[in-house]
Amino acid sequence: MSHDHMTRRGVELLHDPLRNKGTAFTEEERARLGLTGLLPPQVIPQEVQMARVLENFHRKPNDLERYIFLTSLQDRNESLFYRVVTENMELMMPIIYTPTVGQACKEYAHIYRNPRGMYLAADHRGSIGAILDNWPYDDVRVIVVTDGERILGLGDLGANGMGIPVGKLSLYSACAGIHPARTLPITLDVGTNNAELIADPLYPGLKQPRLRGEDYDAFIDEFVEAVQRRFPRVLLQFEDFANQNAFRLLHSYRDRICTFNDDIQGTAAVALSGVLSALRISGGTLTDQRILFLGAGEAGLGIAELLVAALQMDGLSHEAALRRCWFVDSRGLVVGSRTDLSAHKQVYAHDAASAPNLLEAIDVVRPTVLLGVSGQPGAFTEAVVRRMADLNDRPVVFALSNPTSKAECTAAQAYSWSDGRAVFAGGSPFAPVEHEGRALVPGQGNNAYIFPGLGLGVVAVEAAHVTDEMFMAAAHTLAAQVSDQDLDSGSVYPPLREIRNVSLAIAVAVAEVAYAQGLARVPRPGDLAAYIRSQMFDPVY
Ligand code: NAD
Repeated sequence: MSHDHMTRRGVELLHDPLRNKGTAFTEEERARLGLTGLLPPQVIPQEVQMARVLENFHRKPNDLERYIFLTSLQDRNESLFYRVVTENMELMMPIIYTPTVGQACKEYAHIYRNPRGMYLAADHRGSIGAILDNWPYDDVRVIVVTDGERILGLGDLGANGMGIPVGKLSLYSACAGIHPARTLPITLDVGTNNAELIADPLYPGLKQPRLRGEDYDAFIDEFVEAVQRRFPRVLLQFEDFANQNAFRLLHSYRDRICTFNDDIQGTAAVALSGVLSALRISGGTLTDQRILFLGAGEAGLGIAELLVAALQMDGLSHEAALRRCWFVDSRGLVVGSRTDLSAHKQVYAHDAASAPNLLEAIDVVRPTVLLGVSGQPGAFTEAVVRRMADLNDRPVVFALSNPTSKAECTAAQAYSWSDGRAVFAGGSPFAPVEHEGRALVPGQGNNAYIFPGLGLGVVAVEAAHVTDEMFMAAAHTLAAQVSDQDLDSGSVYPPLREIRNVSLAIAVAVAEVAYAQGLARVPRPGDLAAYIRSQMFDPVY
């Protein structure tokens, strides 16, 4: 990497977050690198610096302030930031990612300190290639890009959506050890239709309506081509695009470049993995399940597609597999008699009585698994959860909508309304719940279980494309990491503190698929796991 050859000294070195160690520079380094006198005399090892970071972290009055504090640390000293995050994953992930990142995006214009990543704006059309040359690192391997139109469940946040690519890439580095200099967050600022942002004098993005139609497509095409030219080995992850663009872009680029959409495919893998693990508690096989989705958007349709593939792997025909998946959208149960369905939904429109709402749909479908991906807070009412608990001994209820404020129900509600029988997972973290003297630990269906490991595997073997088989392998590998002890406590996911090992296991499984499918572009190493492990960035000085 070209940055490795830069020999920064003195104050410049202290201002280079990738090399700065602050007070941890040794006497010898201080003398050699022109730092003597620029730091207080005491050499303070990284472990002690970490204690200082944690002390300050806990002193902050709220999570948004903690987010701002950690972002500043990342801007000063990336190794220290990543070491603190990796060693305190359960504490830090909800701050650097969902739910706090949602609030940070909403308030991005007001908490803005330093730029991070790149902003490519609609008025840069025609010169995106030249602008990408301004990025100082040549060996970028993972780009996360958003156009800010559907940030979490929060809608159009325009250029303020930058918190998402920044946060996701922090997770690639923290959870899977992708070197931070190999990551690049990008916001495509194509305008915003959010009037509140346009009225805000501090809003840093373009104050114009969103590009649409051919102009939008031409902009994206120019961007994708320029990225391929500048960073030929990159994995390009699309993130938080609105539904109508997300599916189109995925289908138009997935067989041409190395790309995926985490909202569709990453969510699918994490949800499938959670369902597989839930079946270890509720009993029965995948092919026995009737799965009802609330919300037929990117997440819901993506999950259903992967579930259908998994059901087919377990022996069902395509037809029979589709019949295991049912949807409720904002107009009720998706059934064959409806005339208002998009092509995506029609596939799941089965012959059944119509039902105008979720509760009635439950009576028609009698689901064993209920998945909330609607962004509708409170949609899993007491009546809904009780009905699921009447129908099933161990009802599987996942309220996956993010951030926490959008969850269909809370963990405590799911447990209390099902007399502690629900197998629950949330999209955002929920604290353990005491139910009749038992501590239940809700699992978090966090995409961070999947995409960092998947990305590590793809990047390590330079896979030409990202395939559904890779997501399937990732889902099964994640499920295999869930211990009986995790299940006993009620969690269908492994503890977050295990995530680097989980990511490595997923990376190896994904790389295996890349070799099996003839998509890997590096010769197969003798020991694949050791090879991938050796590529992981270790934030210890
Ligand atoms: P989306 O906008 O593509 O889809 C949301 C869908 O819900 C739309 O089709 C909408 O019509 C439907 N909907 C709205 N109101 C409804 C109602 N009252 N009843 C039924 N359906 C209704 O968004 P998405 O990408 O599918 O994301 C949906 C939610 O899932 C978001 O809150 C997002 O944060 C969350 N999500 C969670 C995870 C995760 O936990 N791992 C991953 C991805 C998305």
